[in-house]
Amino acid sequence: MPAPDVIVTAPLPPFLYDPLRADYRCHDYYQSSHKPGLLAAEGQKIRGLVQGGGTVTPTDLLDQLPKLEIISVFGVGYDGVPVDYCRRRGLKVTNTPDVLTDDVADVAVGLVLMTGRGFAKAERFVRSGEWEKKGPELTTKLGGRTAGILGLGRIGKAIGQRLEAMGMKIAYTGRKAQPGVHYRYVPDLKALAAESDFLIVACPGGPATKHLVNADVLSALGKKGTIVNIARGSIIDEPALVQALQDGTIGGAGLDVFADEPHVPKPLLAMDNVVLLPHVGSATNETRKAMGDLCKANLDAWFAGRPLLTLIPELA
Ligand code: NAP
Repeated sequence: MPAPDVIVTAPLPPFLYDPLRADYRCHDYYQSSHKPGLLAAEGQKIRGLVQGGGTVTPTDLLDQLPKLEIISVFGVGYDGVPVDYCRRRGLKVTNTPDVLTDDVADVAVGLVLMTGRGFAKAERFVRSGEWEKKGPELTTKLGGRTAGILGLGRIGKAIGQRLEAMGMKIAYTGRKAQPGVHYRYVPDLKALAAESDFLIVACPGGPATKHLVNADVLSALGKKGTIVNIARGSIIDEPALVQALQDGTIGGAGLDVFADEPHVPKPLLAMDNVVLLPHVGSATNETRKAMGDLCKANLDAWFAGRPLLTLIPELA
């Protein structure tokens, strides 16, 4: 059997790309300087597509891959995949859940500590030599404060466990109450924001959640509140967030994700009450390797006729 043809639409690390190249005829669409030529020459043969979690895959591209069978996402978020289109065409879509949950939850906790206890600011205070002149500012105790989690899924639950261990109170919202959890369910996002000291965004991106956190929600969060986002930039109305920070409507923000990465709204760069990370939720060697292994294992399973490991729920 000849190796199946696979198109790659995102930059991949060597620990995923090298094993893929060993077992598949890989076509690097991401790096290609002549994408239409690549599609004209190889499009008819392509049976698999590998993309990143943040990659947007247009249906125009998929239309040019008539033999495509499977999209394997290197990431848990698949908001860049046109799921309804895939369902209509009978395409399989897989992702890499679970293996990254702990690392992403750690980043959320890091952002709570960096904003809430002012660690990012305190670190700048030492480096700038200010400590030689005066003592550091006092901040607010985290124990006893409320973390409201938007999206109590795998990552949201792992965030809850960690913050609960720090003595924080946990409440959450989502489309429904989650079975088997003791955290309080608040059906309305604005109501959750109103009672939260930290509003932590952990739901999927995509059209259903676009700008769910809008000016009204930020206003309900108020001066006492900090927004933390480790999910997707699209979930927060970013201009409304910048405005809310500029006019003091909310207390601060800790952000790992942005609407137009790697571009960060300029006003945020100058704000002392904002902590910015470059989308590092799953960025450890161990987790990225596990994600790569799972991404390839799904392709391997499909082309060997074995059950897929992580078919996305909408297509299950
Ligand atoms: P998950 O297990 O599917 O959890 C998602 C949660 O969001 C579920 O509790 C779900 O509950 C809720 N939800 C879904 N649609 C919603 C909606 N329209 N409104 C409100 N809540 C909704 O996913 P996960 O593994 O925890 O990952 C969550 C997200 O984190 C991913 O989709 C990805 O975008 C992001 N992520 C970011 C990084 C990073 O590097 N920063 C890394 C990995 C993942 P209901 O279905 O009950 O509503």
